Amino acid sequence: MPARSKRGILERLKSGPVLGAEGYVFELERRGYIKAGPYVPEVVLDAPDALRELHREFLRAGADVMVALTYYAHRGKLKDVGRENDLEAMNRQAVRIANEVAREGDALVAGDICNTWAYDPKNKDASSRVVRAMYEEQLSWAVEEGIDFVIAETNDYLGEALIALEVIKGLKLPAMVTLASTRPHQTWDGYDYVDACKILADHGADIVGMNCDRGPATMLPIIEQVRSRVSGYVAMQPVPYKTEAAMPTFESLKTADGTNVFPIALEPFLCTRFEMADYARRAQALGVNYIGICCGGSPHYVRAIAEALGRTVPSSKYSPAIELHPVIGTRVEEKEKEFLVDWKG
Ligand SMILES: [Zn+2]
Repeated sequence: MPARSKRGILERLKSGPVLGAEGYVFELERRGYIKAGPYVPEVVLDAPDALRELHREFLRAGADVMVALTYYAHRGKLKDVGRENDLEAMNRQAVRIANEVAREGDALVAGDICNTWAYDPKNKDASSRVVRAMYEEQLSWAVEEGIDFVIAETNDYLGEALIALEVIKGLKLPAMVTLASTRPHQTWDGYDYVDACKILADHGADIVGMNCDRGPATMLPIIEQVRSRVSGYVAMQPVPYKTEAAMPTFESLKTADGTNVFPIALEPFLCTRFEMADYARRAQALGVNYIGICCGGSPHYVRAIAEALGRTVPSSKYSPAIELHPVIGTRVEEKEKEFLVDWKG
């Protein structure tokens, strides 16, 4: 098993916020290594250097955790794209690559499991067995390759999240369990998000909260309530999109003419790096312990979040210095001042 960091996730959380960075699938889709639609992380086997590079960019931007790209690398999804035979190789390689890059800095490695699409609350016993087997096989490979803790994410159902939690606790690893949030107030099996987080914490989840689906504006109010109900560690990893009360999730975002933009025409709704920095400051002020980003995330946001939390990270070397810009900087030559007429209107 590879040597890993001496300071584990719980120790780090105790001394201050931990910075997460996700959105691997969306970012690698944009870069041409994952197919939108199935969103299976085929990049792990097909273009491992592309995955290494993105891990490295997140690491340079200040991420404390390299999340193994095993999101959707489960039996059900691999079957959809005819790669069931690659299941074990894909899972093992994803964890190996996360470890390789984590060791270039001082990052932790998280195993990752997610919603399986196999869970059915109406057929709870039988579907739970299928889900449990999927989590057990993915995490047994992850543990053999070396992980520090496990993130179970984008859980639509509390019932499915509890299965993930049991499997993780069975491995004696710290568990971070976060809920997805496409419905206004409740999980798909009918639990208020805040209650569901409390139940997860009461069942032994070390970190609870939400990830994906919502942008900062519509996730923060829920997390504020979670923070007030849960005494343990709280996580939030929103998507960097301008969701609002009328369109609380990125799945519900529409352009003025009513066209849905999810998942591959979301750009008009992207937050700026300043908005994501602002979110990080608010999350920190609320007492959120694990502050991150989900689908749509990319390294410049992570750096902005890291710097908002008061850190200087490797890629801060190239953080903006707009004062040095030849036209809108602080020392503009007389001959360039003409540009400003057009630039500033
Ligand atoms: Zn996401």
